[in-house]
Amino acid sequence: MPVTHEPVDFIREIVAADVQSGKHGGRVATRFPPEPNGYLHIGHAKSICLNFGIAQEFGGTCNLRFDDTNPTKEEVEYVESIKESVRWLGFDWEDREYYASDYFDRLYDYAIDLIKAGKAYVDALSAEEIRQYRGTLTKPGRNSPCRDRSIEENLDLFTRMRAGEFADGAFVLRARIDMASPNINMRDPTLYRILKVPHHRSGDKWLIYPMYDYAHPISDALERITHSLCTLEFEDHRPLYDWTLDQLDVPSHPQQIEFARLNVSYTVLSKRRLLELVEGRYVSGWDDPRMPTLVGLRRRGYTPESIRDFCARIGVAKSEGVVDVALLEHCLRDDLNRWVPRRMAVLRPLRVVIENYPEGQVEDVDVINNPEDPPAGTRKVPFSRVLYIERDDFREDPPKKFYRLSPGREVRLRCAYFVKCERVVKDDRGEIVELRCTYDPGTRGGNAPDGRKVKATLHWVSAAHALPAEVRLYDRLFSVESPGAGGRDYKEDLNPNSLEVVYPACLEPSLASATAGERFQFERLGYFIVDQDSSEDRLVFNRTTTLKDAWTRIEGRQL
Ligand code: ATP
Ligand code: MG
Repeated sequence: MPVTHEPVDFIREIVAADVQSGKHGGRVATRFPPEPNGYLHIGHAKSICLNFGIAQEFGGTCNLRFDDTNPTKEEVEYVESIKESVRWLGFDWEDREYYASDYFDRLYDYAIDLIKAGKAYVDALSAEEIRQYRGTLTKPGRNSPCRDRSIEENLDLFTRMRAGEFADGAFVLRARIDMASPNINMRDPTLYRILKVPHHRSGDKWLIYPMYDYAHPISDALERITHSLCTLEFEDHRPLYDWTLDQLDVPSHPQQIEFARLNVSYTVLSKRRLLELVEGRYVSGWDDPRMPTLVGLRRRGYTPESIRDFCARIGVAKSEGVVDVALLEHCLRDDLNRWVPRRMAVLRPLRVVIENYPEGQVEDVDVINNPEDPPAGTRKVPFSRVLYIERDDFREDPPKKFYRLSPGREVRLRCAYFVKCERVVKDDRGEIVELRCTYDPGTRGGNAPDGRKVKATLHWVSAAHALPAEVRLYDRLFSVESPGAGGRDYKEDLNPNSLEVVYPACLEPSLASATAGERFQFERLGYFIVDQDSSEDRLVFNRTTTLKDAWTRIEGRQL
């Protein structure tokens, strides 16, 4: 069973208290608000599980809202992939699919209200000047010379900004709050900018676009969100969130609550960096199986269940930290181990000839599909005189504690027979090309009636029946825990061995019918999934993960 803790975190405590006290009429409404400027990653999964999870637990609703206020970076491709990833994770926003861009008219009207109330003004300072006037953490800002423009003048200029009379950057609309505020976000933040760029939804209707900090609280309020959950970097923006809603006649005033963003070791979780990896061709695309994107994890063989389990286990808190990627991998194995069928595959084949096995004979031996899942039954696997075993499973000169095959030693071939290595055959360069073995016909099924024991059980594939396949062995994308730590370029920390392609690996013949997305445990090697590149001519498998679980060790040590 997966350990699905029901974490009563501080956010759920707030929501529960609000429901009890009848705040918002006892309603719970959350939203997941991605900006469609990239593909979702595992960090977003935390936010998705939190927002949709709370809605489910409290009988509320969760909206999917695209925060599409920056047309220079946003694309339809991203919108589509985000929808698909949220669905894949197992969440349903029903008919509640919203776009900040759908509110552009209303956002504009609200801006007019602010101007009329003397709460916003059109500024002619350049971006650089605005920065200089803003002051610093220790120095208050200075008022812009435009700050006291008349309301009429502001209305006139803002209308003309909208009409396209001015060049990009000539003017901005700013909130009129307090240039001396200790919170820099409150020093007359920009609300609107001129951007003569078409938008993926509104087309060329708009030549000015609202800033995120202005559009976000209003979008939340229009959707009557009750709890607006966001990551900690927005904590300092909360006064602006509240200020904006306090000035306007909006239908509701949601409560913004911040939580720590997810960081995972051995990877990066910033869309900017992920985009850079894609564009720089460090990976094959957003769905490269080494990427921490949801499409990448999916292609790698992660299940939505394992990601949801991971999000449940890490919980939600106020303090930033780095979660060990071993926990994510542990959640994955925990899931796969219960239901994924096992097969035999040899990645680096070493030929074995069983000298006393009749030439031309083939036996179908019964092999257990999943010892964790007895109803999964058995399957027939052909056994014959010439087999492949894993090169690593043989040592001519075995060190201590190497219990697998070596000259003169007997081992079990899984569910088949005991075999003993009699002789090693080498080529002119001294490379081992073949082992000559004998088998004990009395050990059929893999057990000796005389009770004699062997110390190792190897997987094997009959050479004449072996199915060739390409196997992509993925490892972590970065070779250090915190890529880019200490000011290094994070790309210098890319793991040069994050992908090794093996061809041809030799698979048992039952895998001939495997189709894209099917998962298998290759005995003793790890979990694998058939890749979308797979075809009838060339089967392609991705290694999802090895079998070795580092987390059990780490957790054991921590307890
Ligand atoms: P990035 O920093 O990767 O570019 P972002 O915050 O700009 O991410 P958005 O599309 O704005 O990405 O995020 C949508 C939602 O997901 C936001 O509410 C954001 O706070 C949340 N989110 C983004 N990254 C993480 C993370 N690493 N952990 C938890 N939540 C996250
Ligand atoms: Mg963002």
